[in-house]
Amino acid sequence: MRRDAFGHTRLLRIDVHGRPSGHPWHPQVLFDALSRAGRRVAIVAVENSSIDLIFRNRRIDYFTETHDEEVVERTLNLVAADQHDFILAYQQEYDDKMHATVPRSPEALRAMANHVRNFDRVARAARDRWATTSYAIAFVSDHGTHIDPSTGRGTHGSNMADDLEVRLFWGVHFPV
Ligand SMILES: [Zn+2]
Repeated sequence: MRRDAFGHTRLLRIDVHGRPSGHPWHPQVLFDALSRAGRRVAIVAVENSSIDLIFRNRRIDYFTETHDEEVVERTLNLVAADQHDFILAYQQEYDDKMHATVPRSPEALRAMANHVRNFDRVARAARDRWATTSYAIAFVSDHGTHIDPSTGRGTHGSNMADDLEVRLFWGVHFPV
């Protein structure tokens, strides 16, 4: 499944940085700070998803996969290999499903459950691999959602609180 990369790119351009769309856009982001600090970064995402595209042209190892499941498998392999300081694994099924329906449709909620299950697999792998080191793990969203009154379907990219305010879940591990 492909996603509406434009929608996400537009969201970031307008809502977070307030820059007009269509201009060259290369703000300083987390990945730049990690790169300056000499950290090894991996981004794992489905081909042509927004995350696969908008952080390109940096000192990052990009892993472009075909589906969420391949993203999870690749991420598990990267955790096992332990060659990176920061790994971003991007899941997209929820966004696809909520665009096709509404944000809390049964299909969208099933997709969210898949994301939680996949996150749990990665979190368990991290806990096993890095039991003796310090690390942080986070389950985050790149935006919220709302129902577009003109289509009756899920969307995002506005300045509404529903699109901008998201919950971020963090876990920090310290070796005992
Ligand atoms: Zn979207």
